[in-house]
Amino acid sequence: MHSDTLRTSETAVPHSRPTLGEEEVAAVSRVIASGRVAQGEKVRKFEEDLARFAGRKGAAAVSSGTAGLVLALAVLGAGPEREVIIPSYVCTALFHAVRQVGAVPVLADADPATGNLDPEDVEQKITKKTVALIVPHMFGLMADMDRLSKLGVPVIEDCAQAIGAKSGAGPAGSGGVLSVFSFYATKVICTGEGGMVASDSEDLLERVRDLRDYDEKPDLRVRCNYKMTDMAAAMGIVQLRRLIGFLAARAEIAKKYDRAFAPLEASLPPNDPGRIYFRYVLGLPGEAGEAAAALRARGISCARPVFRPLHSYLGLAGFANTERLWRSSLSVPIHPSLSEEDCGRVIAAVTEVLG
Ligand SMILES: *Cc1c(COP(=O)(O)O)cnc(C)c1O
Repeated sequence: MHSDTLRTSETAVPHSRPTLGEEEVAAVSRVIASGRVAQGEKVRKFEEDLARFAGRKGAAAVSSGTAGLVLALAVLGAGPEREVIIPSYVCTALFHAVRQVGAVPVLADADPATGNLDPEDVEQKITKKTVALIVPHMFGLMADMDRLSKLGVPVIEDCAQAIGAKSGAGPAGSGGVLSVFSFYATKVICTGEGGMVASDSEDLLERVRDLRDYDEKPDLRVRCNYKMTDMAAAMGIVQLRRLIGFLAARAEIAKKYDRAFAPLEASLPPNDPGRIYFRYVLGLPGEAGEAAAALRARGISCARPVFRPLHSYLGLAGFANTERLWRSSLSVPIHPSLSEEDCGRVIAAVTEVLG
């Protein structure tokens, strides 16, 4: 008991953490020294690099993933009396984006095996008012883009957790009418805060670019200031170059966890060849909240991978799979800078708590 409380946050193993180094420091420093710190040539370069990486014709950088979702929804005509289908099992960013454009969020349940949207439930939720469907790839595992793209509703692909993942249909971000990325500090690559909207439609991207910036316009209507700075973009350019290495390091840790946790009475994350390990999520036979608390008391920052599902905030029933996933899912630390020693500490603690 006492030794647990003595563990300080410095000795705790963080749940996630950005991997930043001298290259990022140098790139950001050069931008500061240039005096041109707002949206400029670094943003344009980052947009080109990301579009190429995601297999898209173009991309528009924005200030966050949420801002990207807002603008993607706006250019697809989401607004009052229009419905947007989103999963219940996801962070609240999606809900906020839909409400921010004045549209109605309609929740769909998850596939219990993957945590991703259940295409059958999505199909049931489509009405004449549906203007878009937001599809996240939860924890780095691709959702069923083939089926979800064929439901007759424009798809916004939410790649905030899945940059670098792929499926038979192509790389994350190559499907959907528009795809959205996040570069928040805890994501796979980071610019502090930041996001990107990618698409093959130059027309949609032009409209995203128009709405992210209010200045010097021929007309006056509601626009945003959702621009990215050149400092953030300089960091993003370096991070994107390092992405493949980051993903390999994450996969290496996942392999160790798979081996160590196989004997436990918990289900391992789906071992899909196209996935990335944004999160390493165990499915427990019991309550994940208690296990997370026991692990935190041992200095290992574990958490439910979704803080609280949207339907529970809204007091809605009928999301049995989401409910079960939320209760049983435990996310354990995984990030490229997790040392071998810390990886061993995670394995020992998880084995002790779940064994
Ligand atoms: C993080 C995240 C977002 C929001 O991105 P921000 O950059 O934090 O605004 C949206 N969707 C998913 C699936 C996310 O994980």
